[in-house]
Amino acid sequence: MKWQGRRQSGNVTDLRGSGGRMGGGMAAGGLGCGGIALLLIISLFTGVNPLDMMGGGGGGAVIPYEQNSTQRMEMSEEAGQDDELKAFSSTVFADLEDVWGQIFADNNLQYNYPQLILYQGVVNTACGQGSSNVGPFYCGGDHGVYIDPNFYNQLHTQYGAPGDFAYAYVIAHEVGHHVQNELGILEQVQGFKGRVSEKRYNEYSVRLELQADYFAGVFANHIKGKGYLEAGDIEEAQGAASAVGDDVLQERMTGRVMPDNFTHGTAEQRQRWFMKGYESGSLKGGDTFNIPYEEL
Ligand SMILES: [Zn+2]
Repeated sequence: MKWQGRRQSGNVTDLRGSGGRMGGGMAAGGLGCGGIALLLIISLFTGVNPLDMMGGGGGGAVIPYEQNSTQRMEMSEEAGQDDELKAFSSTVFADLEDVWGQIFADNNLQYNYPQLILYQGVVNTACGQGSSNVGPFYCGGDHGVYIDPNFYNQLHTQYGAPGDFAYAYVIAHEVGHHVQNELGILEQVQGFKGRVSEKRYNEYSVRLELQADYFAGVFANHIKGKGYLEAGDIEEAQGAASAVGDDVLQERMTGRVMPDNFTHGTAEQRQRWFMKGYESGSLKGGDTFNIPYEEL
């Protein structure tokens, strides 16, 4: 992605202090990627529906990825990496402001900008305490997208989804949840909690997550229109979207696939809905709620 030298969002808070750097070192070395990967993936199987976490209740929506590969990051060397990741994150966030601000304006809708909070370790949010162990998440209560920028490295090393646009896809997916919040969709879906079976509620979660993937694709479409995409960017996003498919993660962890427990959709679905958004570039076509579940 071409990103250097462009506007960076002012709606970014960096909570990483001197302690944060220590945490970064730990994540890279001491604690070990395996441990973190396990925590990440386990969080998918604790029965926690990401819907519970985006509203008033818990920590955060889970975006888990895949393992191995010792690829060197293309973005920078260690020393300046914190700064560069912040600059990249802030630039993508500014792009997201521009794109969604324009789309909402085109539809005569008011758009309130989200906040990007960069942190390491744990963070207090209006949705409770969040942790980088569960991956990037969105909190509807404070309109915050919470990301530990070290997730960029985890995408390479743990989830086999390298590339700057893989990381941009993750930010765009989380902002997709903010778009859902602005459109009132998040609230409607959360209103089903306790009123439908767990299986049905998980289906709503899948619909919500696939729509966030669609919105990430819409963003990619507009970025392409501005000339910011580079060769391979879309493939990077597709790689990330499929690496977080429920079927892929369940198969890896338990050796079998349990569709009733899906909360995000399969690798194929996530990739396909991202591409649908990428091809349309419009809010229209992203209604994942009025399609029979089996046809999603
Ligand atoms: Zn999500």
